[in-house]
Amino acid sequence: MKIGILSRKAELYSTSRLVEAGKQRGHEVKVINPLRCYMNITSHKPSIHYMGEKLEGFDAIIPRIGASITFYGTAVVRQFEMMKVYSLNESVAISRSRDKLRSIQLLAREGIGLPVTGFAHSTKFTDDLIRVVGGAPLIIKMLEGTQGIGVVLAETDNAASSVIEAFRGVKANILVQEFIKESDAMDIRCFVIGQKVVASMMRRGKKGEFRSNLHRGGEAAKIRITPEERSTAVRAARIMGLNVAGVDMLRSNHGAVIMEVNSSPGLEGIEKANKMDIAAMVIQFIEKNAVAGKTRTKGRG
Ligand code: ADP
Repeated sequence: MKIGILSRKAELYSTSRLVEAGKQRGHEVKVINPLRCYMNITSHKPSIHYMGEKLEGFDAIIPRIGASITFYGTAVVRQFEMMKVYSLNESVAISRSRDKLRSIQLLAREGIGLPVTGFAHSTKFTDDLIRVVGGAPLIIKMLEGTQGIGVVLAETDNAASSVIEAFRGVKANILVQEFIKESDAMDIRCFVIGQKVVASMMRRGKKGEFRSNLHRGGEAAKIRITPEERSTAVRAARIMGLNVAGVDMLRSNHGAVIMEVNSSPGLEGIEKANKMDIAAMVIQFIEKNAVAGKTRTKGRG
């Protein structure tokens, strides 16, 4: 097969592992920087051009679209879908998962366990919002944040109120969330392919840090997850419409609660913690599922 990986850098661990796994399994693999793609979107015969050439003959693409380029990146994925090229994750599902409020609303509607979460645009009734989500301690998150940046723990109602006002003062969109203290700075990443959790890991924050992000100095290790956690992860990925997803959850007193469903989950931590070739599993999934024109939404919606 001819597989395109939409990624800004071929040297990134996940990208290079996918290239390697694809080639090992006998495929032709090309890394395409989505920001360098250009296209005539009104043409009857949709096409994509890249560095002076027309991209042709692809059987499948693997979108590895970073959060900062979601808008343009998903447009490129959509164009491939219109050309009937199979995309591992569809553009609509990627956009859905990147919108934190939309994701939480979709998951809540389907009865997935979530931390009690609130959001507001105006700061006029912040005290009431704090009351509605159960009062301090509370986590306040910037919607546009990644890697734990913009995630703040407010220990008191007063602190929560000041932080909310400060964020809103600089026009940052936020959500306010119950602090899952019992998770003890540990979160679980489940790597889902198709309808299966193929690997999982726990991440624990460094001493004195409630955020477990590896970028914040956290450490990863293999973990055994419960059947409930397994089915929650699979359901969350399915609700988002993602074939491949990194589902992040916390262990709370009321069971597993989902924090985020990631559409371009990194391979490094999970492969190293589990000593597994997850890149090869991704390629195998494509081998089984890539059919021209199979994309459910065809970029619609
Ligand atoms: P980002 O997307 O920026 O990584 P997250 O929502 O994943 O932000 O939060 C970063 C980290 O903060 C999580 O990995 C988790 O360890 C911690 N955290 C986030 N939300 C909560 C919460 N409601 N209760 C307890 N810890 C949380």
